[in-house]
Amino acid sequence: MSQNIINTAYDSEEFRKLGKKVIDLLADYLKQVQRDEIQVNKYEEPVNQYEYWKGYADGNDPIKFYKDLLEKSMHIHHPKYMGHQVSAPVPLSAIGSMVSSLLNNGMAIYEMGAASSALEKIVTDKFCQKIGFQNGAGVITSGGSLANLTGLLTARNVKIPENIWNDGQVKNYGVLVSSESHYCVNRALRIMGFGDRGIQKVMVNEEFKMTRDGLEDAFANAEKQGIKIFALVANAPSTSTGKHEDLVEMAKFCEAKNLWLHVDAAHGGAAIYSKKYKNLLKGIELADSVVIDGHKMMLMPGLMTFLLFKDSKTSYRTFQQRAQYLWEDDQSEEWHNIGKRTLECTKFMASTKFYLCENYYGEQLFEAYVDKQYEITEKFAERLREHPAFQIATDPECNILCFRYYNPELNKEQLNQINKRVRQQILQENEYYIVQTLLDDRVFLRMTLMNHLSSVNILNELLERILNIINN
Ligand SMILES: *Cc1c(COP(=O)(O)O)cnc(C)c1O
Repeated sequence: MSQNIINTAYDSEEFRKLGKKVIDLLADYLKQVQRDEIQVNKYEEPVNQYEYWKGYADGNDPIKFYKDLLEKSMHIHHPKYMGHQVSAPVPLSAIGSMVSSLLNNGMAIYEMGAASSALEKIVTDKFCQKIGFQNGAGVITSGGSLANLTGLLTARNVKIPENIWNDGQVKNYGVLVSSESHYCVNRALRIMGFGDRGIQKVMVNEEFKMTRDGLEDAFANAEKQGIKIFALVANAPSTSTGKHEDLVEMAKFCEAKNLWLHVDAAHGGAAIYSKKYKNLLKGIELADSVVIDGHKMMLMPGLMTFLLFKDSKTSYRTFQQRAQYLWEDDQSEEWHNIGKRTLECTKFMASTKFYLCENYYGEQLFEAYVDKQYEITEKFAERLREHPAFQIATDPECNILCFRYYNPELNKEQLNQINKRVRQQILQENEYYIVQTLLDDRVFLRMTLMNHLSSVNILNELLERILNIINN
């Protein structure tokens, strides 16, 4: 009997039958969602969601289960999805995830993912060329948080003369980090043993960007405390407000102080494909390491992140532990044993879907997408600038936009209450999905225009809805 269960679970015809049904279900879903025929979300309080699934009776019926799962999930392919920076994956890439999952090649060592390892070299080398790293190399990691940790580990091993990897934590080193950096940078540095003193905050200007003066101040302040700075993390762009650092200025500073420049382009790296917007990334080729998320602006499903190094050799300095049972010579630079350069041992075959999408649609897919999303955000910002009841936090540079209801007769606290109420009500209505952020203690509504079907019309309707909520 138990042998029968195993055979059934692996039956290829069963897989074919079910798989076709699931693809049909997803294709119907995609059509409905993209046409705005169902709501963007079905928000429920955590306890209700939990109770629903706890009492769920159809867990043994895959099609019913997937139908119910779709209904209870956030619809990122919906034109009124404008929340967090997660891509609506191109469907071809989702098929790629399924294929990779079935193959499940682990990739840590070459034999366990020969094709996907070669493809990883091909796509990362190409990306290096694209951003201007002539002798660069990279890896794909499971997400931007891990890529930032990996890049900073490399910076530490390359820049600090003491052998921290073998001897343990060395005191009195630190990294300059923008006060607007993603929280995962702070977390990565703490994991690496840099506490409060090792994370030296650089204050940003009113445009949410680091300046040369701010850098000099933070550097001098660190020196005064006896902390030797060895790296700088710059945003391209920052998460909350989507503002890009002046990377040329950042690189000059790093050159003058002999620092590693790590550019966190998790969100905005895709702009390198756009003739119109790649200027935002001017100077990125001067970085030592760059992080670009595939699952944000590159239309891939999560998780896949490019971690690219200017000097391919440094990419082999991240980890210095020995794992002789896997690799005969730990010191040699073997691109094909990718586990030598990633924290992951077993890893998803992410390179394959990116390779296919890039070749099937061409790079112009990324260009068209970036252009479209950035342009519509600018149009919406124009509309908001003209509107007396709204205020934008800062001029948008990409597809991230922060704005709030504003009335000069109300004080900060009153305005915060109103904007919070708006966001809460929008969340519960399920008609639109937007988020909120806090900037200088002021609550802003925050949107990232991730969906290619979002339009100025939809945005105008959203503004009307917000005003309605406020006036009722
Ligand atoms: C999203 C983001 C991250 C985190 O990436 P994950 O892939 O979500 O782990 C890091 N930095 C920036 C600037 C981001 O926008």
